[in-house]
Parts: sequence; C-alpha cells; structure tokens
Amino acid sequence: MTPTQNAARELFTELTRHAPEGIWSAPGRVNLIGEHTDYNDGFVLPFAIPHRTVAAVGRREDHRIRVASTFADEPVEVELDDLDRLFPTPTGSTPQVPEWAAYPLGVAWALRQADGIAASAAVGSGLDIAIASDVPVGAGLSSSAAIEGATASALNDLWAAGLDRPALARVGRRAENEAVGAPTGIMDQMASMLGEPDAAIFLDCRTLDANLVQVGIAEAGLAILVMDTRVKHAHSTGGYGERRAACERGAEIMGVPSLRDVSVDDLPRAQELMDDVTFRRVRHVVTENQRVLDTVRVLREGSARDIGDLLVASHASMRDDFEISVPELDTAVEAALAAGAVGARMTGGGFGGAAIALVEQDAVDRVTDAVNAAFAASGFAAPVLFTVTPSAGAHRDA
Ligand code: ADP
Ligand code: MG
Repeated sequence: MTPTQNAARELFTELTRHAPEGIWSAPGRVNLIGEHTDYNDGFVLPFAIPHRTVAAVGRREDHRIRVASTFADEPVEVELDDLDRLFPTPTGSTPQVPEWAAYPLGVAWALRQADGIAASAAVGSGLDIAIASDVPVGAGLSSSAAIEGATASALNDLWAAGLDRPALARVGRRAENEAVGAPTGIMDQMASMLGEPDAAIFLDCRTLDANLVQVGIAEAGLAILVMDTRVKHAHSTGGYGERRAACERGAEIMGVPSLRDVSVDDLPRAQELMDDVTFRRVRHVVTENQRVLDTVRVLREGSARDIGDLLVASHASMRDDFEISVPELDTAVEAALAAGAVGARMTGGGFGGAAIALVEQDAVDRVTDAVNAAFAASGFAAPVLFTVTPSAGAHRDA
C-alpha cells in the first residue's frame, strides 16, 4: 500500500466504521507539448505521471452519496436523486456544493447521464467515497482530472456501468465543465485515463483518436524534471476566456471551423487579415499544432534527445505570442537551459503552475540547484522540483 492508498482507506474507515469495497486511482499528467491546442480541435501529447489520486469506495444500503477528502474539513452528503437538481451548475455561478465536492459528485451525476446507463439498476445504489492524493493541487498537473478519473473508475465498476476509458474521460470532462463550471478541454481526462508506462498519448482533439507514442526518455539517458513554481494560476479564468475568444475570432476571420484547419503556410494571409494580438494568438496555436506533429515524428523515428528545440520553441511561443507565461516560469525555463537542459517549457494552461525540463539523468541535481538558485536570486518563493516518468493511467488498485 502506498501512503496515499493508506490515507484514502483510513479516511473511508473513519467515515463508515467499515472497510471499503475497493480502491481505485488515477494519475495527474504533464503535457509534453501542445498547449491551448485542445479547444482548437488540435493535437496534444500529454503523459500520466506517478502522482495519483486515490478513491476508497463502498456501496451503501440507502440512496445517498457521501464524499470526503483529506483535502477538505467536512464530508458532503446528498441524495442521489438530488444530483439532477444540483447540476448542471448555471454558467457563471458557483456550484451549490463546496467546489471540491463538485468534482466527485459531478462525476456521479455525469455518469448517470451517460448513454445507455440509465437502464442499469446498479446505478441507483448509494456510495461512500473517500479521497486522498499526492498530486500537487493547482500546479498545472491536473489534480482535477485525477480526482475525476479515480471517482469515475470506481463508480463505473461499483455501478456496473460498463463504460470504456474514453467514455469515462468524457464523463470527467462533463463534470468539470458542467458541475464545477470550468471550461476545459478533454486532454487531461484522456491522459489520466489512458496513460501507459513510458508512453505519451498523442491525442487528436477533433476526432478524439488517441495513440500511444513510446517516449524512450530513460532509454536516451534522460529524465523529465517538473519545476512547480507554486504560483497559483490567479488570472487564469479571465486570461483563459480571452485566449479562447481570440482563437474563435481568428478561426472566424480565416473562415474555418477551428484553428486546426489553419496551417503554417496560411500564416502570412492570417497576418494581413487580423489585428496583431489576434494574429499572435493564432500563430501560437498553428505553430504549436505543428510542433506536436513534429515531436511525435521525432519520438517515433529518432530519439527523445532530439525534441529539445521543439520544447524551447513552444515555450517562446507561449511567452511571446500567447502571453500566458509568468516571470517565475520564464526563470525556471531559462535557468534549466543555462544549466544544460536539453529542452524546457512551461506546461499546462499558464499564468503559473509548472514548467518541465528534459535533462540528462546525471545532470538532474545540477539543474535543480541552478533553478533553485535563480529563484532565490530573483526573490521568488522556492519552487518544488521533482522528476517524473510516464506512468500508468486510471485503474483499480485493490
Ligand atoms: P489542477 O487540475 O491544475 O491541479 P484545478 O484548479 O483544475 O487545478 O483543480 C484543482 C481543484 O480540484 C482543487 O481546488 C479542488 O477543488 C479539486 N481537487 C483536486 N484534488 C482534490 C482532492 N484530492 N480532494 C478534493 N478536491 C480536489
Ligand atoms: Mg485542472
């Protein structure tokens, strides 16, 4: 048992005075490359990380659902039949339950609404759900997809709902979009559901086609260093909305359904048609899509060592064109590169969160020291640095 599994089991036992029926877990994720491409019908290349959110779950005699988390002071309990009254959360308002509880309860609600599920009688049984996690929250590593994935996997089994992993990813996304009210794409949930050791998930966000790509990072003598700036994405909601709107505007001006349909060759024409800010938003998305395709090709045909320049170009594009970086992220990337990293970029939605660096295994300590020193010299709060390897997606643990 891992410490997180123990914590979930203990919380469950404290809550119910009996043992859980089972334990399920789902990981956070790092996006190797492909940022803000998901809601533009484009390409992303995330992988699941070793950090996981664990749900210890058991069915109840009644029709109530109770969720508890080591993260929260109080459990939240509702009637199953009340889920339809609580959700969806109207656009622009906050959930009628504490926000954290809208993730697991939203999953229960969305699962009951999924195609073909209403027919299954088991979906009516009440549940106790106890959650623990070692995924850093709000660091851009998708603790939200991890809590959704762990809950969705548990409910799918205990309610005998029979959904496959992509369908469970869609349930998680629906919970996040409609129960929590966060307008996110499906990348995080797909990464958390479909991850495999040593593989990244090459996801076409238009078709939802997902293909595993062997990354061969350890094989190339490399490691991925996560540099969590601990800057919380404070302006993320407004900034995210502005970026989405700019992308929609850009696609409309180009006369296409989404920026997925604009290629690098179309950029000169785009520049003539748009104001400077819209053009730069568009250029980020268009070139980032191409960088994902290039990264996949390099990983398949060559070595992880050769993706470094693509990572660096991705960061520059987010910093200069999409303008979603912050000084702490730039400092982490620059310090890592100056200390010899093969490549580095901010990862996640931006405005804070984490950056990643591709580093020689025997240079991890040196790069770590350099990033810590650069933060201290800039007067920033100390970052948290750790290495990750592409890991397994959601599963039943016990
Ligand atoms: P990120 O996904 O980057 O970590 P989000 O803002 O998308 O950040 O999701 C974080 C939110 O998800 C938390 O504020 C909390 O509401 C919920 N959450 C994540 N992990 C847990 C957990 N273990 N227990 C309860 N709520 C959690
Ligand atoms: Mg999230």
